[in-house]
Amino acid sequence: MFLEPSFRAQRSGWIEVICGSMFSGKTEELIRRLNRAKIANQRVQIFKPLKDKRYDDNAVVSHNENAIESIPIESSRTIYDHIHDINVVGIDEAQFFDMELTGVCQKLALKGVRVVVAGLDMDFRGQPFGPIPQLLAVAEYITKVHAICPHCGSLATHSYRLSDEKETVVIGEKDKYEPRCRICFEMGNILDFRSRS
Ligand code: ZN
Repeated sequence: MFLEPSFRAQRSGWIEVICGSMFSGKTEELIRRLNRAKIANQRVQIFKPLKDKRYDDNAVVSHNENAIESIPIESSRTIYDHIHDINVVGIDEAQFFDMELTGVCQKLALKGVRVVVAGLDMDFRGQPFGPIPQLLAVAEYITKVHAICPHCGSLATHSYRLSDEKETVVIGEKDKYEPRCRICFEMGNILDFRSRS
């Protein structure tokens, strides 16, 4: 379980990244951390990409419907317009943001803000996704959460796409994706390739 260092003992803010596959509980973990900060009377603001319209427009909603108010934004620079007097910034679905997000998070941390970023570390091809690899490199704290592979019960690290769509960003839930372990992910890709050729 992640335990936060004390703000008072720290000279600046810091960056935390919560990453993993789909259905691994990233957003739940983000909400858990932000709710605890709120209870401690810290001022919290959450952002999510405008692209992610799966649920309520103004809330970060995890799969267990534990919602928290958020601002949908198009560009990571917009965060600067909303952080006056804010102690903790949460960013959900960070893989969908532009590559400037890393620089924005670093500036916030230097200003003394605690930045908690949640996002998919790999896309449906198993490739590093958007600004997440850079964020992992510069973060003070990293938490990788896992789902469970429905085929073999191993820890799932990959997001397997069940549909045939080829674009990197295809918004969907259990209708389009399932979590898979490395081997079941690879087996699926080999079988798909064979069935198409
Ligand atoms: Zn498996």
